[in-house]
Amino acid sequence: VGQSPGEVEFHQAVHEVAESVMPVVQANPAYREARVLERLAVPDMVIMFRVVWADDNGQVHVNRGYRVRMNNLVGPYKGGLRFHPSVNLGVLKFLAFEQIFKNSLTTLLLGGAKGGSDFDPKGRSDGEIMRFCQAFMTALFRYIGPDIDVPAGDIGVGGREIGYLFGQYRKLTGCFHGSLTGKSLNWGGSNLRPEATGYGAVYFAEEMLATRKEGIAGKTATVSGSGNVAQYTIQKLNALGAKALTLSDSNGTIVDPDGIDDEKLAWVMELKNVRRGRIQEYVEKFRKAEYLPGKRPWSVPCDLAFPSATQNEVEEDDARQLVANGCFCVSEGANMPSTPRAVDVFQEAGILYGPGKAANAGGVAVSGLEMNQNAGCMKRSREAVDEQLRGIMCSIHENCVTYGANADGVVDYVRGANIAAFVKIADAMLQQGYV
Ligand code: NDP
Repeated sequence: VGQSPGEVEFHQAVHEVAESVMPVVQANPAYREARVLERLAVPDMVIMFRVVWADDNGQVHVNRGYRVRMNNLVGPYKGGLRFHPSVNLGVLKFLAFEQIFKNSLTTLLLGGAKGGSDFDPKGRSDGEIMRFCQAFMTALFRYIGPDIDVPAGDIGVGGREIGYLFGQYRKLTGCFHGSLTGKSLNWGGSNLRPEATGYGAVYFAEEMLATRKEGIAGKTATVSGSGNVAQYTIQKLNALGAKALTLSDSNGTIVDPDGIDDEKLAWVMELKNVRRGRIQEYVEKFRKAEYLPGKRPWSVPCDLAFPSATQNEVEEDDARQLVANGCFCVSEGANMPSTPRAVDVFQEAGILYGPGKAANAGGVAVSGLEMNQNAGCMKRSREAVDEQLRGIMCSIHENCVTYGANADGVVDYVRGANIAAFVKIADAMLQQGYV
């Protein structure tokens, strides 16, 4: 902590992993001697840079850009880029740290990294977004490449931004190769990459529910956020016969008692991805829905909850309310959305709780498949990718059970995910020497 003061989210993420894996480290002298845990908590390298761009009125803006390379022990650095005013070094170190474990769980050859900027895309024109992305990539392009570091999207970085970033990378390097994932289908993207994180979070919930002989059909669900992960979580919930009741953004939550069916979801996708409007507009279009300004969805009674917006968006009181209202399964589409106290509440209540690094690994898994397709100059069908995604989510679940089942049969998915991922990384560290 003394070495990285003020990086609250980073400390939170490291603390959670250390708590889970400490018994494994203590039982293994080789891990202790090689100081595996300490080495994992220090990034291989942090690249920080200035991003200068001009808005539509010619006014000049200066933002901070970052790429945190946590480690590449089991594959090239891999992790998304986040454009959001809350981005700082501590947030990106937490995300890069989580990414090591998540990527390890996918069973693919992927190291851990994260990057981004404190740039706020809200209210910016397409031209401004393009110029910002070009300025960002002009600083970053020397440090990425298909077998070095392969960024992707995250909050504020979707298909449009990946397009502008890739265009500038291609222009500067003269290379067309898989240096970014989340690309458009007709120039190197993978089928199902946009859907993968949301679909994966629902597949993970399905696996958790199956341990209690339950299914998704007929259940009600609360979903937070209204971006990429939230949208495709709802699409898959609908396909499997559940009813999604909520969506949110940083201003508030909409509650639709009739459920956000596919037709309403298509309207939301147009609102968020094309018109870039606010979720509040939903209640003007769909009159039975209610808007809760400044609120999150967690007071709405539900069977299943899918936090899909941002870190620490489920606090202790939210968790208590969810449990009191009968929620018995939480599958995290977002990264670290529940505070440590909220996680305690879920675990003490004995409900099914799937932490983000396991439940939302579907996105990076399909990014890994996109890298493989680019390297082999081929494209796999939607059905084939979906089958692989499903298989990967099942194997992550199985790994969590192997390492996280308590004597009474209840699965601690946090411990399971952390230990399963840690052992693979720690062994790679021992085998590769003191570097
Ligand atoms: P998007 O930018 O598409 O959507 C983010 C959503 O979350 C928006 O509705 C946004 O609302 C809301 N949000 C963001 N920050 C805050 C905040 N501080 N408080 C309240 N609401 C907020 O991002 P994604 O859907 O891609 O990402 C959502 C989460 O999923 C993140 O935690 C991300 O790290 C994680 N994730 C994403 C993956 C992916 O493949 N995209 C993969 C794995 C994890 P607003 O418009 O008001 O900002």
